[in-house]
Amino acid sequence: MHRTTLGDFELTVVSDGTYFLDGGAFFGVVPKAMWSKKVTADALNRVDTGLNSLLIRTGDKNILVETGIGNKLPEKLVQIYTQPAKLLDNLHAAGVAPEDIDIVINTHLHFDHCGWNTVRRGDHVVATFPRAKYYAQRQEWQHGRLQLERDAISYMSPNYDPLIESGQMVLLDGDAEVVPGVSVKIFPGHTADMQAVMVEGGGKKACYISDLIPTAAHLDLTWVMAFDLFPLETIESRKKFYAQAIPEKWLTVFTHDDATPWGYVERGERGKLGVKTLG
Ligand SMILES: [Zn+2]
Repeated sequence: MHRTTLGDFELTVVSDGTYFLDGGAFFGVVPKAMWSKKVTADALNRVDTGLNSLLIRTGDKNILVETGIGNKLPEKLVQIYTQPAKLLDNLHAAGVAPEDIDIVINTHLHFDHCGWNTVRRGDHVVATFPRAKYYAQRQEWQHGRLQLERDAISYMSPNYDPLIESGQMVLLDGDAEVVPGVSVKIFPGHTADMQAVMVEGGGKKACYISDLIPTAAHLDLTWVMAFDLFPLETIESRKKFYAQAIPEKWLTVFTHDDATPWGYVERGERGKLGVKTLG
């Protein structure tokens, strides 16, 4: 289990397992001749992809960033992506029950980031984390509701609408502090309103950067996923992120990297970006 401390906060990576993404979609316009040197694809060109959530124990509250794919995926999509559904087991292994979670933060509302927000109970869909207050961006939610041809498949309303109806989900309008030391910051590109989660403690910073940089293989400015709605903004957002994260040594959490869930982004010789992993 990946665990560290940041000031008074304890940070733990908890995974929902791994799923399949198409390697071509994962690396966008980058030729396979290049990305295949970094990750291995199977015979169907699928890449084994992590689903990392971050558990933040503040001492006062248990905060869960992102909730993986969950266990409600339609059968057709289970065939394509698989549905590992391991998050609750891994939370249990970290000593946390669903009732112990006080706050859930979704960086955006794609189904592989908010699936465990809710579970089915008979005819109803209810909060998986019964006591939790959930946070997402209002404009992200509104975009999902449009059900546009391009990305309707990514937005499944049972993952969030029941929480809005029950009053458990708080919709944010831009950057915000969630609790002292934990805040959200918009980094547009993957979606217009995707938010990263910043943790500050003991003079140090960590950042759950979500799909702006999904894995350590996506550090290059131009290695942008085909899923991104605004690839030019992804590049600008990455520049902004590196301009702070590298000199200030932010511990960066990679949502979709099973092998390297977190590390410090560094610029090596000739400007090449790399990750220094936690010892
Ligand atoms: Zn996404």
